[in-house]
Amino acid sequence: MEEHHGGCLCGGVRYVVRGPLRDVVICHCSRCRRTHGHAAAYSACAAADLDLGEARTLRWYEADGRGRGFCTECGASLFWRIAGRDAISVSAGTLDPPTGLRTIAQIFTADRGDYYELSPDGRHLPAGLSSGAGETTCR
Ligand SMILES: [Zn+2]
Ligand SMILES: [Zn+2]
Repeated sequence: MEEHHGGCLCGGVRYVVRGPLRDVVICHCSRCRRTHGHAAAYSACAAADLDLGEARTLRWYEADGRGRGFCTECGASLFWRIAGRDAISVSAGTLDPPTGLRTIAQIFTADRGDYYELSPDGRHLPAGLSSGAGETTCR
């Protein structure tokens, strides 16, 4: 079975995805930028496929029906979810390489910070994805 490992900087959170990962969607919305420090690069998996082997420092910041999973020790932003949805977004930068992934889209490009230019990677969508890739708006 396909298996992907990942974790935060300090090792307080380690996880295994036992199943397929979606290719990466970069979100430029202001909420992602504030919590990640920049645009957020998210893969995603079925919630049931995410196995939190080590989660002693994992906490969830819940706002507007969205949850952001982060490490209370090193501050890493690891996960993003909407309650009741069977998919969970996983920060691509927390996956152990090689990920085998590529960037397929950039969302909320209209909301990007004013201090950088968009890379040509993937489709550019001024607003969120609404279907297909399992990802929707994150605000
Ligand atoms: Zn950590
Ligand atoms: Zn976002």
